[in-house]
Order: sequence, then C-alpha cells, then structure tokens
Amino acid sequence: MPQLNTIFSLEKVLKTNSDLNVEESGILNIKYSGTKSSTKTNAVLRGLITREGDYLLIELIVNYVASSECSRCLKSSTYDRETFINEKLYIKNENDYEINFKDENIDIYPIISEKIIDNISLVTLCDDNCNGLCVVCGKEQNTSVCKHEEKNLKESPFSSLSELDL
Ligand SMILES: [Zn+2]
Ligand SMILES: [Zn+2]
Repeated sequence: MPQLNTIFSLEKVLKTNSDLNVEESGILNIKYSGTKSSTKTNAVLRGLITREGDYLLIELIVNYVASSECSRCLKSSTYDRETFINEKLYIKNENDYEINFKDENIDIYPIISEKIIDNISLVTLCDDNCNGLCVVCGKEQNTSVCKHEEKNLKESPFSSLSELDL
C-alpha cells in the first residue's frame, strides 16, 4: 500500500491566497514508545492549508489506526486515533520543521509526526487495573495470579520489574 502523501505544492496558496484542500490517504509510519501506526490500514489526512497575510495556516485532521502495548503487561491493543493539527508558520521566518517556503514542493510530514507524537502518551494501560507481569516468571497476571515462594524473588531476572512504577 502507498505511503501517506505529505508533499504539496503551495505555490498557489502563497501567491494567490487560494486555499489548498487536503485529502490524502495512505500508510503512516509512526512509532513512538509502545505505540505503532498500522501498516495495513490507511491513515486519512484532511483539512485546509491557507495563507493569512504573512503566515500560513495549516489545519488538518489525521485519522489512523495504531496499536499500543500496555506498559504493565505488554499486551497489544488496537485503537482508532485522531490528531488535530493547527499550526501557524510565518512565511519569512525560519520554523522548527525546516520548511522553506521557497521550495517548489513542501513536505509537511515533520509537523504531522510531531503532533501525532505529542498526542501519544508514554504510558498506555490495557486497563487501569492491569496487574502487569509476574516479577518472578514474567507471566501476565490478569488471567491468573502466580504464587511463588518469597525466597526466589531476588534471584529472578524479572525482579527489577517490581521497582518500576508504571
Ligand atoms: Zn495490561
Ligand atoms: Zn510467576
């Protein structure tokens, strides 16, 4: 499947103040913390790029599917996600995305990926009450709870998990 197109010619927008209607779909490649965008379902990018005086206004919505790993038990769940982008870029100034308005085609991918990543939380839980993994054997503790003898705890390779506060 094709990648999501994020490259646009903004010549008309910049020169004639006409709006650019954005409507794209394709695969989005975002990976952050335990979250990964789908490589099977298209992401959809919709919105408008307009010029208002000395700046460009980028108003977009990205809808995509992503799977997130539970920070405690590592179980993966799939979610529909939506990220809103509302960004002002001054045409004559430098910007954080290294977008140069003198270029013929402008890639807005850096804006999209930054906003999406801002939206992804570092800690994702499959359930607020997730019991996580057993500190001794590493088995998930939601369907059944392990019973081990205390003395094994310190020697286990998973014992450091008990010190993580997720
Ligand atoms: Zn979990
Ligand atoms: Zn166990």
